[in-house]
Amino acid sequence: MAYLEPAPLLDKENPFEAMMSRFRAASQILGLEEEVYNVLKVPARQVIVSLPVTMDAGNIRVFEGYRVVHSTILGPSKGGIRFDPHVNLDEVKALAAWMTWKCAVVDIPYGGAKGGVACNPREMSAGEIERLVRAYTLSMIDIFGPDKDIPAPDMGTGPREMAWLMDEYSRTQGMTVNAVVTGKPIVLGGSLGRTEATGRGVMVSTLAAMEKLKINPYKATCAVQGFGNVGSWAARLLSERGLKVQAISDITGAYYNENGIDIEKAVAYRDKNKGLLTGFAEAESLGTQDILTLPVDVLVPAATEDVITANNASEIKAKLIIEGANGPTSSKADNIIYEKGISVVPDILANAGGVTVSYFEWVQNRLGYKWTAERVNRRSDRIMKDAFDNVYKTAVEYKVSLRIAAYMVAIDKVAKTYKFRGGY
Ligand code: GLU
Repeated sequence: MAYLEPAPLLDKENPFEAMMSRFRAASQILGLEEEVYNVLKVPARQVIVSLPVTMDAGNIRVFEGYRVVHSTILGPSKGGIRFDPHVNLDEVKALAAWMTWKCAVVDIPYGGAKGGVACNPREMSAGEIERLVRAYTLSMIDIFGPDKDIPAPDMGTGPREMAWLMDEYSRTQGMTVNAVVTGKPIVLGGSLGRTEATGRGVMVSTLAAMEKLKINPYKATCAVQGFGNVGSWAARLLSERGLKVQAISDITGAYYNENGIDIEKAVAYRDKNKGLLTGFAEAESLGTQDILTLPVDVLVPAATEDVITANNASEIKAKLIIEGANGPTSSKADNIIYEKGISVVPDILANAGGVTVSYFEWVQNRLGYKWTAERVNRRSDRIMKDAFDNVYKTAVEYKVSLRIAAYMVAIDKVAKTYKFRGGY
């Protein structure tokens, strides 16, 4: 099957190296001790499993699954599960480390982890996906746990998969354990506001950054790459706050309308069209990559890693980039963008709204209590705004980019905690 071959990375930059180069730079500025640096640079645990799954045709296919726990210094590890043909160990390692830094930036008591299975859910039936989720959960039964490691959705997974995961885990424990996973359907103990949480956090950080740059949202234009959960919610909430979203995109191409795209209409179209924007007639269609270099004020890459690279960074015209995806900018592109004077709100800050509301979901599950959507949104908005202000202050104080400042805030917190806890 061609889609099971790992696709080449666009910038040929290993995502773990991309993460490490920022980690190294921030550690140097912080003057982090070598011993602590050596602890934080490697994941605490890396698990690879083979998952034989009976397909609908009766044959058995073996999938490869991963779970990487980068750190449990701040608390139980937290992070999503990705179902995508490109999943590989280096990507999962990078994403796990990003979760550690992300939780630390927003000051929630979790370490970082990530999981993934190399598969193409678009080409699998619901039954095949369910068997895969159950097989994966059973293989990770010693890793997962509400006080140990708490998964969540990521690319290619959502509330439905989290429900199967919770059920499979609960069967092995002989009781319902809803706090083992977040991003569940509301009836199973999911939190109000979780679905839109990452996009909402993107909106809050966009507005906070625009205020610093003195850009009026009602006069600003925007392009959003990616129209999955994060991109579509970010586009919707940004347009509600006055920005003119001139372009959106997904794997089928980019869609541009100078007068602004009606996001509600685009969402309704996508939902009726097998989750894809192909044929969306309310806009002119462009090549997938063209979305990144449009003359807009705000660019939100909310698709996948490594899309802004040394090859296209000099062509970017936006004044502000808000990273809805994890790792959308290669480390080689960082300097080009910085020198062009473009501000970047980095992934570990900009998309932390999702894990923040995951934390609220876990808290509610453990309390056996439900919060209103209003309470969830108010608290997550405050966490995002405080985290932004803290990172911004650090960037000004040390004269560094918001990205390096976010890493500095995160590494400092994890390192201090590590030193208090001590080692062998
Ligand atoms: N997958 C999301 C992320 O990358 C959410 C993780 C979570 O909620 O645990 O931040």
